[in-house]
Amino acid sequence: MARIGFIGLGNMGGPMAANLVKAGHEVTGYDLVQAALDKFAGIGGRPAAAMADAVAGADAVVTMLPAGQHVRDAYLGSGGILAAAATHAVLIDCSTIDVDSARAVGAAAAERGIAMVDAPVSGGVGGAEAGTLTFMVGGPENAFAQAKPYLECMGKTIVHAGASGTGQAAKICNNMILGISMIAVCEAFALAEKLGLDHQKLFDISSKSSGQCWSLTTYCPVPGPVPTSPANRDYKPGFTAAMMLKDLRLAQEASQVAGAQTPLGAHAQALYAEFAEAGNGGVDFSGIIKMLRERR
Ligand code: NAD
Repeated sequence: MARIGFIGLGNMGGPMAANLVKAGHEVTGYDLVQAALDKFAGIGGRPAAAMADAVAGADAVVTMLPAGQHVRDAYLGSGGILAAAATHAVLIDCSTIDVDSARAVGAAAAERGIAMVDAPVSGGVGGAEAGTLTFMVGGPENAFAQAKPYLECMGKTIVHAGASGTGQAAKICNNMILGISMIAVCEAFALAEKLGLDHQKLFDISSKSSGQCWSLTTYCPVPGPVPTSPANRDYKPGFTAAMMLKDLRLAQEASQVAGAQTPLGAHAQALYAEFAEAGNGGVDFSGIIKMLRERR
């Protein structure tokens, strides 16, 4: 049994922390929202009154926060994680954030001689609850080895992507593929409708042909062919368009800094921005088919 500090007990962090409690660890959690702390206490966690109280003396500290600025503040601020953490601790940031922030915080931890990894996840709230998340981990080999047993309590697939920041790089590259491929599949179904081709027929053919991809075969954006996809429940998420837009923006930022050419990523970001700004931020990201059908 280890002592773990968990910062950010929201939609993802709450169930992830619960799985660490279930695994027998002593987990002290901190969140700005009292309701999140109360829920955490209800599943056997120890709520803390301040971030430093959750971090001091912990063998591992896990953070699951909204964005890069929250992570920088939590780690680098006065009364923050780096100031309070024991030198033997491993720090694990599971938030999805920009590569630069991940590297800056990782470097600050290294300067203090504390092991740290960036470990963003794929799998959503369902995966967090079931303990089946995929972790994409960036950081030194020793930090990865130290973090792995804790990640195994919360996920099924744990991949060491490389040096600090490469976990975030893997996450945004993967989600750029997802955003672009979802739009491609939506456009194909919208075109098929105009051409008088049945949804199921297109699915039967493309799922066995070169158009095959996850957005088609697991997350089909029209109702029918894949009964578990959000299209069958009026695009209730799932993975919201706002989350997809966040990840596409991170990919574009990284692309610009790195001097990479990602024109389809840029176009996907613009389309998801249009969709979200029309009031659909909370809709599943596959719901963009509705906009693509109607767009002139
Ligand atoms: P959320 O908004 O539900 O949870 C974030 C929590 O952090 C909130 O409870 C908030 O009060 C807390 N918080 C913010 N600042 C804090 C601080 N300084 N100290 C303590 N607590 C603080 O968000 P979420 O859906 O749990 O997502 C968290 C991260 O996981 C994001 O980076 C997101 O992109 C990523 N992610 C989410 C999903 C998903 O399906 N929800 C999937 C993959 C990755």
